[in-house]
Amino acid sequence: MNYNDGAASSEPALDNYTRTLLEALQPSGEQIGDPGEEARLRADELLARASEAELTEPIVELFTFLLHCRRQHRFSPEAFGIRPETLESLALKHQQIDEHMVSIGGRLTQALPIAGEANNRVDSYLKEKDEAAPSGIELWETILENQARIKRKLKMSDEDWNSFPGQIRHAVDSIETLAELIDLPPAAAASVAQVTKEYRMRLTPYYTSLIMPGRLNDPVMLQSIPTGEMIDNAGIEIPPVAADHSPARLIDQFYPRVVTIKATNMCAMYCTHCLRIAHIGRKDKIYSREAYREALDYIRANERIRDVLVTGGDAFVLPNSMLDWLLEQLDEIDHVKVKRLGTRVPVTVPMRVNDELLDIIEKSNDRKPIRVVTQINTAQEITPVSRDSFRRLSKRSFTVLNQAVLLKGINDSRVKMWKLCETIQEAYVRPYYIFNCSYRNPQFTHFRVPLEVGRDIVESMYGNISGDAIPRYIATAGGKIPLHRSNVVTEENNNYTLRKPWNGEEVNYPDADPELYKSDQFCFRKY
Ligand SMILES: *Cc1c(COP(=O)(O)O)cnc(C)c1O
Ligand code: SF4
Repeated sequence: MNYNDGAASSEPALDNYTRTLLEALQPSGEQIGDPGEEARLRADELLARASEAELTEPIVELFTFLLHCRRQHRFSPEAFGIRPETLESLALKHQQIDEHMVSIGGRLTQALPIAGEANNRVDSYLKEKDEAAPSGIELWETILENQARIKRKLKMSDEDWNSFPGQIRHAVDSIETLAELIDLPPAAAASVAQVTKEYRMRLTPYYTSLIMPGRLNDPVMLQSIPTGEMIDNAGIEIPPVAADHSPARLIDQFYPRVVTIKATNMCAMYCTHCLRIAHIGRKDKIYSREAYREALDYIRANERIRDVLVTGGDAFVLPNSMLDWLLEQLDEIDHVKVKRLGTRVPVTVPMRVNDELLDIIEKSNDRKPIRVVTQINTAQEITPVSRDSFRRLSKRSFTVLNQAVLLKGINDSRVKMWKLCETIQEAYVRPYYIFNCSYRNPQFTHFRVPLEVGRDIVESMYGNISGDAIPRYIATAGGKIPLHRSNVVTEENNNYTLRKPWNGEEVNYPDADPELYKSDQFCFRKY
């Protein structure tokens, strides 16, 4: 919106960009040769189109041609019989046609080259993304072949495949079964067999089908199949976070107004990089009603709490009746204003997201906003099926947010992370956080990525992908600590120098006048 529109449009004048452009086109003394028949015909044709049409594009094209002739071959417009007055009037016409009075000079010498430079930044990404980080939608044909093979080997009916109980009943929890379903080097199989005595493995048949055959260190495989390093690394145990942050049964609290209820220790699939690995996936436990009551009592008694995150484990592993009850209890507490459900199920068993669950979520969302917080680490985890479950969740809840973990070999490059963020946004999910993989769990030291690498990746997104597809970069260390790089270069005499993250260009940014800011005599108080 330009507030000067009305005032300025009465008498358009040429701006400095256009004057400079017109000057650049004029001859500078040297002999003008003959541009030749072909170029003259082209100039005539462009001039005719620019003069006739009430469009900006033919004018831009004419000036582009003339500027090219002048720069490359030293032919000025006069060589084509085009007079300076004609060009001036076409420049004015361009400005009059354009709704925002953009001048031909500004468009041709500033905006178009700037756009060209910006295009170069994303072109390498566009070339690499589908090869380096294919989505499950792009891989769907192979995934369907995997599904057919897995269904046959596990003797699963379509009904089993398409239901949550069917997927859980046939979950892959032994190395013997796994080795029948995917390619595993024999030495790896022996090592995995060892590790799974210590760490639980469970892949849903659906999640197993996302593993690409013949790909060593497939990113879905890395997230779900424990490897020998988990035992080799486990030397230095650091006490689980829960002990110092759990003020009440099932509750974790870092902040005065937000708490989590760890409503279950079960997940549909057990992640190799799980932050709660000390509590999750050792043994399934059904928690008693008393435990939930104590957690709810803690929330009830603490009026500061306004946001409750139901997590686990995985909130969607809870039976519908249990979720329904828990959400009702929370909605009845006056000071609880918003809720979240933490779940990976839409990517590990999207079949769980059925109408009954969606009805429960919508019912609670109608009382007070409810967000679904998920964890997707690669574009490969977005398939037509998971995308559809997110689409339905996003229709029935306030919003769906993603918390990714930055993991070596899984998503630790610009192309992979950009692709992840764009793909999930296209699947109705908003990128929310990227966690630097924690030091607290030595089991997954081999997945850790240096803090600075993550900063480069996150910072590279600014200006190149949609702002609301850029997550915040976070260290979890007894609460979430932002890790973003500062783009303030210097500050002097109330003047900032800021850096554009996408090309390093530094710009001057005068700050608000501190004296003026202090004054309370402003606007209507001035009368
Ligand atoms: C992540 C987390 C929260 C929520 O933090 P937000 O920054 O509000 O997303 C709250 N409590 C605990 C214990 C958490 O781990
Ligand atoms: S879904 Fe979450 S809680 Fe469950 S194993 Fe994965 S990271 Fe851990």
